[in-house]
Amino acid sequence: MNFRTRFAPSPTGPLHLGHAFSALTAFDLAREAGGTFLLRIEDIDRTRARAQWEAQIYEDLHWLGLDWPEPVRRQSDHTDAYMAALEDLWARGLLYPCSCRRRDIVAAASAPQEGGEPAVGPDGLVYPGTCRPETPPRGQMPRDEALRIDMRRALDVVGKDINFFEVGAGPDGESGLIEVSPEALIEGVGDVVLSRRDFPGSYHLSVVVDDAQQEISDVVRGQDLFEATQIHVLLQHLLGYLVPRYHHHRLVRDEAGRRLAKRDNDRAIATFRAEGCTPAQIRDMLGLETAPGGAA
Ligand code: GLU
Repeated sequence: MNFRTRFAPSPTGPLHLGHAFSALTAFDLAREAGGTFLLRIEDIDRTRARAQWEAQIYEDLHWLGLDWPEPVRRQSDHTDAYMAALEDLWARGLLYPCSCRRRDIVAAASAPQEGGEPAVGPDGLVYPGTCRPETPPRGQMPRDEALRIDMRRALDVVGKDINFFEVGAGPDGESGLIEVSPEALIEGVGDVVLSRRDFPGSYHLSVVVDDAQQEISDVVRGQDLFEATQIHVLLQHLLGYLVPRYHHHRLVRDEAGRRLAKRDNDRAIATFRAEGCTPAQIRDMLGLETAPGGAA
């Protein structure tokens, strides 16, 4: 498989050093492998996505010395593809509608239980199963409700070991062939949302459909998404997609050891640019080699 990777930011704020590290790492790996680097705009959060931030993503990445084939895939243009995947999972009895609000989930998950503290997964509190039906729902897939995956049923349907190949390293140094444990998916991840009330898809669903449709061979992303990767690999098995290789990379942290977030405006690429910093200095700050040929 030819090396094809992508950088997939959400246009909900300025790119910071952590994004630059991810984008440059993916770009450099693609260049080394003689492969392709794609840019994808993950704009399913319609309340927070802004054209202004999207425009700045292009500007910042070009300034860093990156280029990519056009047109850029924007998730909001591909709701049909997400709907088709959801319909497939619905028809197989793997989804159910959920009308719980966040506070209902907090209340149900925090109720005294045998196991002690409520489990927290990649999407926050593990869903306590309030809306999960005994038998799979039939009929038309609802369009105006959140849809959750029935994790136990999904694992039964896959019916075999779920694994992926880690080329980088997980947060605890995990590398090589990673076996995804069904217990970890049930207890530690649970019935995550695959379709939101306001958008036909969720991060997990759309990222998996996009990576398959864009024929991504290597997903390069931060270690903060390592836990979510197990959900993606499960979905790839369910939907009959190829499982890409994963390259989780270290996170860029501030002086206090915290992972950078969008609110860290002082570490925004635009701020460094405005202060007269060069792309080569950004690479240097991030411990990345200068691009050959002086491109950076
Ligand atoms: N859009 C995600 C983010 O900004 C990353 C997507 C991915 O690598 O799967 O964190």
